[in-house]
Amino acid sequence: MTACHIIDTVEDMKAHSARVRAGGKTIGFVPTMGALHEGHLSLVRRAAADTDHVVVSVYVNPTQFAPTDDFDEYPRQLQADVDLAQAAGAGFVFAPSDRVMYPDGFCTYVVPGSVTENLCGLSRPGFFRGVATVCTKLFNCVRPHKAFFGQKDYQQSVVIRRLVADMNMDLDIVVCPTVREPDGLAMSSRNKYLSAQEREQALCLHEALTTAKGLADAGERGAAALIAAMRKIIEQRPLARIDYVSIVDPDTIEDVDVVEAGTVAVLAVFMGATRLIDNEIL
Ligand code: AMP
Repeated sequence: MTACHIIDTVEDMKAHSARVRAGGKTIGFVPTMGALHEGHLSLVRRAAADTDHVVVSVYVNPTQFAPTDDFDEYPRQLQADVDLAQAAGAGFVFAPSDRVMYPDGFCTYVVPGSVTENLCGLSRPGFFRGVATVCTKLFNCVRPHKAFFGQKDYQQSVVIRRLVADMNMDLDIVVCPTVREPDGLAMSSRNKYLSAQEREQALCLHEALTTAKGLADAGERGAAALIAAMRKIIEQRPLARIDYVSIVDPDTIEDVDVVEAGTVAVLAVFMGATRLIDNEIL
């Protein structure tokens, strides 16, 4: 296996991408904030299967964190991430510093619209502005043919698809299935924050979504009934506090009253101080 290299400047990243493209190869890109787990690595493997050359970015993007968020605590482990990315098929890791990404004088942001007016967009003001801004910058540095995102962050995948379509960006977005722990909890870098009790009770997210899917499969079409069933399951766990439980249109992210094929059940739940999200397409 050839060594996986780290690139930390915009100039080197652009030059590398230009060389790969000049050689007629396709570039697959997996943007991450590091602390890589099987969820991230499934995207890297998919990128390696679909494209000739895989770049993984590891960057904890400050502009998507609110002052009260966990930016300082967020797990950072670059060398371990490079090793994991390489084993999964990445050729390069792009790991810029904050000064490289946001040098003095930086003042331009990408502000996504209506698809951010619900769910995480409501709970985390400015979050998707940070995500859309950093992804635009990363896409311009890496110049991928395809970029790979997880369904786990469902609203984010919609925001990115809209970003690419609305700004006429020249790449395809591929959304890959959520990877779960054996007991059903969606993998997340933030699962590390959970105490043993919180970890156990965090199963209520998946349990609620599975229940909603079961009800929908059995013919229940009322969003209110599904939401009530999901809330009931979560509220039985004393350490869980609901941020939102919603049933939304897969493209507009607006609440719907009636479940149709493709409608998405989405939720965000605090387990103690840790906010977890998950979703299920009905
Ligand atoms: P993050 O490092 O949390 O910003 O995530 C980077 C990418 O990995 C995003 O596209 C996420 O949706 C994706 N991702 C995170 N967790 C999972 C998971 N459990 N399954 C699939 N993709 C995931």
